[in-house]
Amino acid sequence: MKVFKFGGASVKDANGVRNIAEIIKLYQNEGLVIVVSAMGKTTNALEEVVQHYFNGREQWKSKLDEIRNYHLEILRNLFPNNQHIVYEEVEHTFYQLRLICQTQAESDYNLVYDRIVSYGEIISTRIVSAYLSDAGLDNLWLDARKLIKTDQNFRFARVNWNFTEILLRQAIRNPSGRYILQGFIGSDDNYHATTLGREGSDYTAAIAAYCLNADSVTIWKDVPGVLNGDPKVFDNTVLLNKISFSEAIELAYYGASVIHPKTIQPLKQKGIPLMVRSFLNPTQSGTTIENGSSLEPMVPCYIQKSNQALLSVSTTDLAFIVEEHLSQIYATFHRYGIRVNLAQNSATSSTFSINHDPVNVPLLLEALKKNFLITYHEGAVLYTVRHYTPAALEEFLRGRNPAIRQTTPIICQIVELKTGPSLN
Ligand code: ASP
Ligand code: MG
Repeated sequence: MKVFKFGGASVKDANGVRNIAEIIKLYQNEGLVIVVSAMGKTTNALEEVVQHYFNGREQWKSKLDEIRNYHLEILRNLFPNNQHIVYEEVEHTFYQLRLICQTQAESDYNLVYDRIVSYGEIISTRIVSAYLSDAGLDNLWLDARKLIKTDQNFRFARVNWNFTEILLRQAIRNPSGRYILQGFIGSDDNYHATTLGREGSDYTAAIAAYCLNADSVTIWKDVPGVLNGDPKVFDNTVLLNKISFSEAIELAYYGASVIHPKTIQPLKQKGIPLMVRSFLNPTQSGTTIENGSSLEPMVPCYIQKSNQALLSVSTTDLAFIVEEHLSQIYATFHRYGIRVNLAQNSATSSTFSINHDPVNVPLLLEALKKNFLITYHEGAVLYTVRHYTPAALEEFLRGRNPAIRQTTPIICQIVELKTGPSLN
């Protein structure tokens, strides 16, 4: 079997759903598990419903109406016959959502969040499943809340692999069948809906592939595949045809929004290839992430990580920075949950590029000031060039003024200071 995943952008309107049917038609004779996200920006909109509801504000009603109207418009476009059963299915889910919101707010925000937000995927899959059936593409609609079992860590639920594998294998028995499954959602032992973290549908696709020993996973996107840099940031980007699992994890680590490592890991374990392809050009092969050589073509990869702060820590008495200081500094980072992306030491100071977190960074600075001198600058940007060549590096560095630069045989990283408040 193959696992396909279609994200929110691919089902943002009626034509998106039609396009999915066209793609599935190219795979008529294959067993498919089709994982679908909520339509367009529905998850964001449902998050707003949760906030209104949880704070006792009546606006949840108008927000929910907006979401309903958006889906009804897609329905009317796809199913001119308003007696079609799909209208009832979709209206029923909105009825359930209204019921939830009319009852007394539960005290656990994250539980309420998952209960409400999970409906985005229920609705989108109802629509996709009905449309595919009408297009002659028989399929079975599955409820991920009965199959993807998790713990109770609402909003960031962790998968119970053994249980999930048993349930998925029971539900998906026909290797040449066609199944529709919601991304992003599951349930705990009490069948309370849970979610796997925002953008979690890719992960669901990987879970299904792992549990079913699928041949491959294909993520259909609005880009041709994985590029060697974000085209919104870098010029002359090229498509990467192949990336090894380890290389993909490395790229993600440095901040590339390739594919989340969480999605890669189960696939890497079983050697199941992951394809990233364009739903706009479904005949092109896109990018394949699999075991093998790290990159094809072997080109430098450029990664920008914004929202950095540059923090220098030095001893108050100009003593050398030694292990004892460093362990104290890192323990403080750990205490405030601050991620260090780059570190550089000199005799009496250490400099760090850290994720700027407006809540925790001020607490971190207060704590460090008790024992060290610090300078601090917000608005820094960290660039990483992986697999650089001397020529590529020269070109990349032209006109830049790095505050820090670090080079290994494989990567070059620089931090540039942009405008932003600083503290000395
Ligand atoms: N609909 C969910 C989200 O927007 C999951 C996903 O899109 O992958 O976060
Ligand atoms: Mg989404």
